[in-house]
Parts: sequence; structure tokens; C-alpha cells
Amino acid sequence: MHTDILVIGTGISGLTYAIKLAEESPTTKITLICKDRLEEGNTRYAQGGIAVVSNFKKDTFEKHIEDTFAAGDKEGDVNVIEFVIREGNERLQELIDWGTQFDRNNKKKLNLTKEGGHSEKRIVHYKDHSGAEIQRALIEKVKDFENIQYFENHILVDLITDHHTGTKNKRCYGAYIISTEDKEIIKITAKITVLSTGGVGQIYAFTTNPSGATGDGLGAAYRAKVKLEKLPYIQFHPTALFPKVAGETFLITEALRGEGALLKNLSGERFMEKYHPLKELAPRDIVARSIIREMLLQNETNVNLDATGINTDILLNHFPTIVETCRSIGIDPCITPIPVVPAAHYSCGGISVDENSKTTLDGLYSIGECSYTGLHGANRLASNSLLESIVFSHRAALKSIQDLKEVNLPLSFYATIPNWKGQHFSKDNQQEITHTLSEQLRKIMSEQVGIFKTTDGLFAAQKIIKDLYFAVVDLYNSNKLSPQICELRNMVSVAYVLVNQSLELKENKGVFYNHNYGKEPVL
Ligand SMILES: Cc1cc2nc3c(=O)[nH]c(=O)nc-3n(C[C@H](O)[C@H](O)[C@H](O)COP(=O)(O)OP(=O)(O)OC[C@H]3O[C@@H](n4cnc5c(N)ncnc54)[C@H](O)[C@@H]3O)c2cc1C
Repeated sequence: MHTDILVIGTGISGLTYAIKLAEESPTTKITLICKDRLEEGNTRYAQGGIAVVSNFKKDTFEKHIEDTFAAGDKEGDVNVIEFVIREGNERLQELIDWGTQFDRNNKKKLNLTKEGGHSEKRIVHYKDHSGAEIQRALIEKVKDFENIQYFENHILVDLITDHHTGTKNKRCYGAYIISTEDKEIIKITAKITVLSTGGVGQIYAFTTNPSGATGDGLGAAYRAKVKLEKLPYIQFHPTALFPKVAGETFLITEALRGEGALLKNLSGERFMEKYHPLKELAPRDIVARSIIREMLLQNETNVNLDATGINTDILLNHFPTIVETCRSIGIDPCITPIPVVPAAHYSCGGISVDENSKTTLDGLYSIGECSYTGLHGANRLASNSLLESIVFSHRAALKSIQDLKEVNLPLSFYATIPNWKGQHFSKDNQQEITHTLSEQLRKIMSEQVGIFKTTDGLFAAQKIIKDLYFAVVDLYNSNKLSPQICELRNMVSVAYVLVNQSLELKENKGVFYNHNYGKEPVL
């Protein structure tokens, strides 16, 4: 199959990119693929909303810029921070024009809320399921365009590069894709390929990310020798419901703390005042580390988030999903504190891109959570990721239209690109092995590469991950390729790069904390 543009991933990034491109260039053929259904991905689970300066009576771009730079521990790129925040408002309006609903007050103005690290109320939201609403509207919109086709249940295996074509153009020419239904590997050639594959949370045992967040875009980019940056900056969300619900970790949004919910240890004492003047609304890394410290001090498995002081009407109307999920495991947040623990949540680093989301390989773009743009630096400010996605998708779409004019490879060239040349014999025990290896990876990542790290621990993790890597290569070479093997291969690669980059970091910044460079007491 040949297409002008191949977009891998249909979260907010892939969809807004495709819509913008289709609007601006109706004759460009765009092909979207996603590993599951169109709606599945991190976007769908976003609760809090999008951080955008919209109340100009109180808020300013400068305040949001300062908050973003401070949250990122001064590691962010000031130029990027500035344009993302200034362009956010127009992009938000586009989401609204494309059919997304956001909560409004009785004067029909956007109802804004506040989250940790923000100096003003500026989070635009739809109840506590903002991401699902955005995803719904974008999916409806994307179906309007005749020049967009999409394939669900198709997984990226590898990017097609000079390695496959024998050329020396230093370009990406599309991708090899496996269908999860018939397990056939197809070749989709494209003038431009876009990775919008989301997060990597599944390399950890406890994560707010859904099961598909296995870092596939990063794994494929790594194999294609594309630069990956700042992977050690994994943000842990301070408050995930404890224990898991039906095997899945459920997030308790920061907006609940914004409305006044208090963190308490299991003896019922508030503790955040010991750790930071902003208390419950301190930046996420500080709240997450404080919770772990408190759990260790008290020798407890979790802490509590007490929302009982919040007006019941607000709880029921603004946080219906949280109330319903907690009630499903016998906790009523209106009358009982919610048990919570930190969980791996967001990858601040990713595939290195420029201000138009172009990667270090020609013909390859990367947008959204799988990219590193410079916005977040060493820590993401709450609700800045959906903002980053819409701003960079827009820029990438406009740049792609320009780039398309310059791609002058003939169709006959794409036709000569070889089909997938993989092994094709099967053993029936591979599911069990991939599961075991994934669990081993998650265990070592959680124990040694979690919120608190040590240099010895990182070396120990590096050794185990190397062994896992060789086990995966073995599995890969001696089995018919399956979606599970593809995911495992990517998870191990991402973990490997993350650990290596962690060993190179010699100072604690933002979410990265190694006790060997730490100022906080070791517990
Ligand atoms: C529980 C939760 C709450 C959050 N709350 C907020 C919030 O309030 N505000 C905020 O700004 N951010 C929030 N975030 C972060 C934000 O939701 C994500 O960063 C953002 O949605 C990522 O969008 P994306 O388009 O980059 O990727 P995703 O939405 O994750 O989409 C990834 C897409 O890639 C596809 N894909 C992945 N691998 C492959 C493959 N190998 N082959 C084919 N397709 C593939 C998937 O099928 C999916 O379509 C939250 C995240 C979580 C998990």
C-alpha cells in the first residue's frame, strides 16, 4: 500500500494532525493506523483537562510560561514554552469548533480549574473525563474526510529506512505493520511518516497508562537510529487509586486536590506541609516523593486522599467517574478517604523533535507524548501535555504540506521496497514467555528505576535488562512475529535507553531523583 502520509497512532496528536492536514490539503492521501480501536490510548483516560490561558482578566501568558519553566526545573526550552503557551488558545478554539464540549459557567464562559504547579485557574475541562470527550469529537470529525482512511488493530513493527532499501537518502519511507487479526505483516510506504504512539507507562508495574502504552514509537525510532532524549524524566502521578481495579490502575485526578482534597497518612495526619509550602498542590514530583517517604516512615502500603471536605454536589457533578469507580470497590469518596499510591504516568522525554515536530530522520515526524519537544524539561506541568499535542500537531501538519512538495521520489521507487523479511515459524508457548519477560522487566524497572534511584541500582537494572534484551532477541528470531513480541521488544529497548541515560545524569532534576546525588534524606 502507498500513501502520502502514514500516521501511526490515533490519540489527540495523530487525530488533530490528520484533521488539520486534511482541511488544509484535501488532495493529500492520509492513512491512520492504531494498535487497538480508534479511541484507545492515553488520551481517552485524561481526566483533568488542558492548560490554556483564557481568562485574561486574571491570568497572563507570562504566568503560564513561568509555571511551566519552574515545573520543568529550568530544563525546558524557553522558546518552545513561549510559543506553545501563546498558540494554545487558538488551538483550543479549533478543538471546540471541531465539536469538543468543555464545561462552562452560567455566563457560558469556560469553567476553569486549578492543578498542582499552576499559579492561576486555567485548566479547561469536561467533567472528569476531558480526554474521552476530546477523543470522541476528534474521531467523529476525522470520519468526515474522504482523504483519510484508517485501520484499527494494526501495529507498527518497524520503520522502513535506508537499511531496508539499500539507499543512502537518510529518510524514512513508511513502515512494516502487523495486523492483530490475521497476523500478516504488510508494507505501507509513505512520503511522510508520523509517530504519535503515546506513552511508555507499561514498562512499570504500577502505571496509569493503558495496556497499549508500551513505547512502540520510541522502540522503532531507536532501531532506526533516530535520536531519543531525556527518557529518564518519567513523571509519577502522586495519586492512583490503591489497589488496582480489575487489574488496571485508576488515576485520581489532581483537580480533586485543586478543589481541596487533602493528603493524609493512615493515622489521619496531613503531611504535605512538612515537605513543601504549596502542600497538596506542590509540583507532582515533590508530592510523589513525599508520599513515598510518608509511606516508608509509617510503614504503610498507601496514603489517603481525603475529599470528604468537598461539597458533595461538586464531587458528584465534577468528578462522576472517580466517584463511580471508587464506589465500585466499596469506597464512597463523599464519606470515606480514598486510598492512593504514586504510579508511572507520563514520559516527559521521547523522540527528539524540532519546533515543527520533525525528528532527526528526514520524512519522519513525531508528535505528542512519544516526542520530546523541550516544553516539559525535567518535569511536565499538569495538563500541559494535551496542550503540547494540539500545538505541535498543527505545526507538524503545516510543515508536512511544505515538505510533501519537496519529496520527489517516484512511485516506482516505493514499489521496489522489499516486503517484510522476517522469520515465520511458530511455537505455541510464546505468550507465556512474553508475559514472564514483561513481568521481569516491570519488576526491575519498578524496584530500581522508579521514583527513587541509586547508581548501584541502575547498574543492576542495566545488567538484567541486557539479559532480557538477549532473551527477547532469541524469542524474536525463533518465533513467528506476534504483537506481544513486538511490544516486548519495544519495552525492553525503551527501558535500556532510559537506564543508560539515567546513568549519564549526574544531578537530580525535576522528576529524576538518584540518592547518590540527592539532597533529601535517605529513608
Ligand atoms: C490516566 C491519565 C490521565 C491524564 N490526564 C491528563 C490531563 O488531564 N491533561 C493532560 O494534558 N494530559 C493528561 N494525561 C496525559 C495525556 O493524556 C497524554 O500525554 C496524551 O493524551 C497523549 O496523546 P498522544 O496522542 O500522544 O497518545 P495516545 O493518546 O496515547 O495515543 C497513542 C496512539 O498510538 C497508537 N499506538 C501505539 N503503539 C502503536 C503501534 N505499535 N502501532 C500502531 N499504533 C500504535 C495507539 O493505538 C493510540 O492510538 C493523562 C494521561 C493518563 C494516562
